[in-house]
Amino acid sequence: MLSQRARNITPSATCELEGTVAALKAKGVDVISFNIGEPDFHTPESIKDACKRALDENKTTYVDIAGVPPLRQAICEKLWRDNHVSYKPEQICVSTGAKQAINNAVIAITNPGDEVIIPIPGWVSYVEIVKLAGCVPVCVETREDYQLDIPAIEAAITPKTKAILLNTPNNPTGAVYTRESLEHLVMLAESYDFYIISDEIYERLVYGENRHVCVASLSPEAYRRTIVINGLSKTYCMTGWRIGYSAAPLELARGLKDIQGHMTSNSTTFVQYAAIEALNNSEESIREMVAAFEARRQYAYSRLCAMEGIVCRDVGGAFYLLPDVSYYYGRKARGKVIRDSFDLCNFLLEAYQVAMVPGGAFLSPNTVRVAYTVSMDEIREGMDRIEQALQELKP
Ligand code: PMP
Ligand code: GLU
Repeated sequence: MLSQRARNITPSATCELEGTVAALKAKGVDVISFNIGEPDFHTPESIKDACKRALDENKTTYVDIAGVPPLRQAICEKLWRDNHVSYKPEQICVSTGAKQAINNAVIAITNPGDEVIIPIPGWVSYVEIVKLAGCVPVCVETREDYQLDIPAIEAAITPKTKAILLNTPNNPTGAVYTRESLEHLVMLAESYDFYIISDEIYERLVYGENRHVCVASLSPEAYRRTIVINGLSKTYCMTGWRIGYSAAPLELARGLKDIQGHMTSNSTTFVQYAAIEALNNSEESIREMVAAFEARRQYAYSRLCAMEGIVCRDVGGAFYLLPDVSYYYGRKARGKVIRDSFDLCNFLLEAYQVAMVPGGAFLSPNTVRVAYTVSMDEIREGMDRIEQALQELKP
């Protein structure tokens, strides 16, 4: 029989749904996939070339658990250039995706039974990662505009609070947390003595006036209390390459590396060489991708806002929108009552072949997550289908 720990895990709704959608597509079903959080652009050629070169040069052996020195150096330079925060290579741990870096971080700083605060709506894996570490997730609702609710966070702190798991720009809300709110959070971390695990994987996906603020850059206190998590999946269209990293105060960084040393050792060696190229030479492709996402965001947002009963926030980051669709709960279609976000997403997928992740999976029961990670033509078609589907739902 599976362990209690394994039985306690809720499978990743985002990853599972992607499997369902891939199977439908393989059967020839024309699905519009607003479900998965990955860029639809290909990995830039220069990055693929760097990987091929590394293979030709036989960069195929075990290397330092925390990553090859030139990659850790490139990460330090990136953190200084983009985030104005100074790290040495020994403070960096390169992992098999940001997902592993977050797991390392939670294990490294918590003891079983400790509490970790998670602002919600929040990414599906946070609660499960905390549970896997034997800790207790303490979910705190964000404000109506999806910004951090600092008084609510303060109210949730107990003597067992060990960390907060933060994500800005945010999956699934798209919110970019303000500098002021992050400064307040650091003050709380100082007063109540807890760590901040700051997942900044969407940092380059910010639009309009919004600016990403790296938590560790805010002050020496913030630096001491923060483990910065980042990765190459989103910014460089490298989701399948599985590479991410953490940057932390030296003592914590040693712990992260030691944990990883017994889990996976180093992340794939030749991929690390591709990552150096990505970090050093991708500005143009990033700019083009962000411009495409910005146009899609505006279009998808305006279409959703124009639909009866839908309430959508104009957020400024990542590639997600999280509209409130609860207006349609209790309505009927094809003999079935739509009770919640799961029913609505099932109906949209089965009857109209539009895939979205139910907000319930992000502990946001009144919403659905729309990832605008498909072409403008597909967004147009997908929005037409959603509009038609909603019109079919009768009170
Ligand atoms: N953090 C967030 C908020 C994410 O949405 C994702 C999704 N991929 C990850 C971390 C994990 O990314 P990676 O592909 O680097 O494991
Ligand atoms: N993070 C992405 C998403 O939320 C990819 C899938 C996953 O790892 O959860 O869709």
